Amino acid sequence: MPATNPLPESVLISESHLQNRIHELGAQIATDYENQELVLLGVLRGSVIFFADLARAIFSAQLENPVKEVRLRFEFVQLMSYQDSTKPSAVELIRGGTDYLEQRHILIVEDIVDTGHTLKFLHEHLWTLKPKTIKVCTLLDKPSQRQVPVAIDYTGFEIPDTFVVGYGLDYAQQYRNLPYIAVLKLI
Ligand code: 5GP
Repeated sequence: MPATNPLPESVLISESHLQNRIHELGAQIATDYENQELVLLGVLRGSVIFFADLARAIFSAQLENPVKEVRLRFEFVQLMSYQDSTKPSAVELIRGGTDYLEQRHILIVEDIVDTGHTLKFLHEHLWTLKPKTIKVCTLLDKPSQRQVPVAIDYTGFEIPDTFVVGYGLDYAQQYRNLPYIAVLKLI
């Protein structure tokens, strides 16, 4: 029998708040990268749902204002920083087919920035591939937990120091398919 997982305690960010903010982020990104090609670089696995909604929000912004054409490419890397627990561990690149990034604009799409170690590691790795620019879009930011300074260009929501799940974020690979962000009650 699998062990019972703790239950989400309360909704921190509702589905409608998420969607409204992602719509705003999409419009901002469409303006900033108008008439350019952009590589959206998703960090697996936590960012996948945010990534999919953000990519479509960028397209919607183009429909509302056809001047803002952004030619999107998709790329993914997989990093390991948490292993079925709520404590950060060392960062490791598990997958990253990113050899064509030279001279391209990259927008890293993250689920959450906590200590900053994951983002710092990824930034350093990507610069070795000689892109033209690197910017960062994160759905969630826990600024109170920062251990290393990182630059974030687009933030969905700043949240307090609490462990959250849903909308791509997991606890032991569970809860990723919640359509909202919830606080997890750890037993
Ligand atoms: P950092 O390296 O910034 O400390 O951590 C980034 C990674 O830690 C995120 O990509 C995510 O996988 C994980 N993480 C940090 N805080 C949380 C949280 O509140 N909930 C979940 N599910 N993952 C988190």
